[in-house]
Amino acid sequence: MSRFLNDRYLSLKEYVPGEQPRDMKYVKLNTNESPFPPSEGVVDAINADSVRLLKLYPDPDCSELREKIAGLFGYGKENVFVANGSDDILNFSFMAFCGADSHSVVFPEISYGFYKVYADLYGVDYTEIPLAQDFSVDPEDYIGIGKNIVIANPNAPTGLALDRATVERIVASNPDNLVLVDEAYVDFGAESCVGLVGKYDNLLVVRTFSKSYSLAGARLGFAIGSEGLIADLNKIKFSTNPYNINRLSMIAGCRAIEDNMYYMNNCKIIARTRRRVTEELRNIGFEVLDSKTNFIFARTPEMGGEELYAELKKRGVLVRHFARESIKDFNRITIGTDDEMNVFLRAVKEILGK
Ligand SMILES: *Cc1c(COP(=O)(O)O)cnc(C)c1O
Repeated sequence: MSRFLNDRYLSLKEYVPGEQPRDMKYVKLNTNESPFPPSEGVVDAINADSVRLLKLYPDPDCSELREKIAGLFGYGKENVFVANGSDDILNFSFMAFCGADSHSVVFPEISYGFYKVYADLYGVDYTEIPLAQDFSVDPEDYIGIGKNIVIANPNAPTGLALDRATVERIVASNPDNLVLVDEAYVDFGAESCVGLVGKYDNLLVVRTFSKSYSLAGARLGFAIGSEGLIADLNKIKFSTNPYNINRLSMIAGCRAIEDNMYYMNNCKIIARTRRRVTEELRNIGFEVLDSKTNFIFARTPEMGGEELYAELKKRGVLVRHFARESIKDFNRITIGTDDEMNVFLRAVKEILGK
């Protein structure tokens, strides 16, 4: 730290991304990336011609990409916001909608770690709501709470999802507050709330191309919401970084939407592998939460979470462990290809002597 840092950031604890080690080749099951490459359409579209166009600024309005996304979900372009990863959208949303008093915010105590980081960054008044005993989000905690709400659905790192009707109850009971539903993992088997956007002007659904669309490296996220919410997000974007999506990512996103079937099929494959791995882990004594995502959250009574993580790493398998007390026995394991998961399962059995 230098002596120049603004005082208000002295105690800020930044987000710590999952490790991306380069010391050896790992079976990488720690950051929920897709094991499948982008579609051929995306690969073809990023070519010498598109690279030559990098001399020009990208379209700050992102019209083509917004229209494509809007078309996929049956909304208009004015209902779609796009940004540099959904993290960028969460950042803008905390900036735009969260603060003190009527702008204070609540989110689950165990959820995506970035919510708290943004809340701290902007000095937002926030409350973390504990999960239920079974690690689920208890909707009753959020009904009529009268504060802004941020929930990941499905939640991370638990993988558990609320059904659409339950999220709708939360949205309908807080008409004067924003409900932001982070659907980063929804394509892997949960019910999306995108269809409710036309009915509730206080609902913002946030999505990403990073997981189900195999484009984590492109940095592309989108949000669907009422025209007013999208206009507010654009106000913040044009006040910070109007060209926040580069030309190549914009092209990749457009082609990915055209190739939607390819990605949705990959999600089905991943969900099938998830069910198999869940069953195999349960058969050797693991507790595995009922995931609707491309990862599972699992613990065994036979070994602590951190030790299992370390033993797997020694064997070239990388998973994610969180030190937080209430979940320290668990590991979050991304679902890769069947071959990758077989390597993982063999390593687990070797470690536990099964
Ligand atoms: C991965 C993830 C994000 C961030 O996605 P990007 O689009 O890559 O920034 C947001 N929310 C949740 C819950 C995630 O797991």
